[in-house]
Amino acid sequence: MQYVFPTYARFPFEIVSGKDFTLTDNQGKQYQDFASGIGVCGLGYNNEALNKAVIDQVQKVWHTSNLYESQLQDDVAHLIVKDEDMLVSFCNSGTEANEAALKLARKATGKQNILTFNDSFHGRSYGSLSVTGNAPIKEGFGAMLPGAIYDSYNDPAALELITSDLAAVMLEVIQGEGGINVGDPDWLKSVEAKCHQEGVLLIIDEVQTGMGRTGELYAFQNYDLHPDIFTLAKCLANGLPVGAMVGKKSLAEFFGPGSHGSTFAGNPIAMAAAKVVLETIDDDFLACVKKKSEHIWKEIDQQLVGLDAVESVSGKGLMIGIHLTASVPVDEVITKLQAAGLLAISSKHNTLRLLPPLITPCCQLCKGIETIAKVLKTY
Ligand SMILES: *Cc1c(COP(=O)(O)O)cnc(C)c1O
Repeated sequence: MQYVFPTYARFPFEIVSGKDFTLTDNQGKQYQDFASGIGVCGLGYNNEALNKAVIDQVQKVWHTSNLYESQLQDDVAHLIVKDEDMLVSFCNSGTEANEAALKLARKATGKQNILTFNDSFHGRSYGSLSVTGNAPIKEGFGAMLPGAIYDSYNDPAALELITSDLAAVMLEVIQGEGGINVGDPDWLKSVEAKCHQEGVLLIIDEVQTGMGRTGELYAFQNYDLHPDIFTLAKCLANGLPVGAMVGKKSLAEFFGPGSHGSTFAGNPIAMAAAKVVLETIDDDFLACVKKKSEHIWKEIDQQLVGLDAVESVSGKGLMIGIHLTASVPVDEVITKLQAAGLLAISSKHNTLRLLPPLITPCCQLCKGIETIAKVLKTY
């Protein structure tokens, strides 16, 4: 590529088409997808119902702005919040959803400080980057937002930092970019309890973990957590750009007319897709994801745990981290997997990250693990 800033080190092929969990590149080579983009295409590729909804909307209207009523936005928001006392603010990405969350938390509490965690990832804008626990990606960009406080994830000592000085605590219940670090259930409940005790808002970033990835619609449901604010994006419209900031109804007065917005937010085409995604991920669908997860984790235990190349495994549902030993570089493994016809991605700390489309059948998930085992056995 010659005309695009080189912010991404790209693999030397282009994906030109896809069906369900299979992708095809410009040489006609086929791959089993174990990445879903970067955790985006939960319903896979060329989904008939999604295609139909998008095409129907394309033929009606592409853009209307947020100056008028939108039944479609309200339908999607209803599907997101269900019966909870919450409201939705739409945007176009995970970064923007987190940006909105930070703004709302500061305005609602009248406080500045946000506690966040090492190895977290919340986005690349100044606000969301300021609360991201990854120093190298901030290098050279100058001063970050004041008021971001860091501590170690899953560390009981962090509870001491949750005081009434904070506007919010912001966390992922499973850190995705940071290495598939699974939150300790007791620690997460303690964080929530301390937030309530100190009048601090709890913001949960569900951008990667949300939309059925862990077997529940939102990963925090696995832990019986009740965030004041949570954010969605990646899987929400299966690849059309959309994000959502979801907050308690009691926060509505701080996000009144003129306080926040975005030209493209809640775009009708993205909303048409999101509606189908949310209608598809119902209780039966989630039960199916859970069942598949049991199978794939059994397969992982049998085929990957104990290999010389594998230090440990972590994750939940179909969000999986294979932690490779230091002598087995994850980027090399990914290239070998590509040659073997499987697309996977990496995460921090030499982690092979697996985020297969949620619609992938059991047998195919197991086949993918077999391919990974074959490649890892070469080390
Ligand atoms: C990807 C991601 C983001 C950023 O989302 P964008 O759509 O790339 O802006 C934020 N938080 C988490 C947990 C993510 O995985």
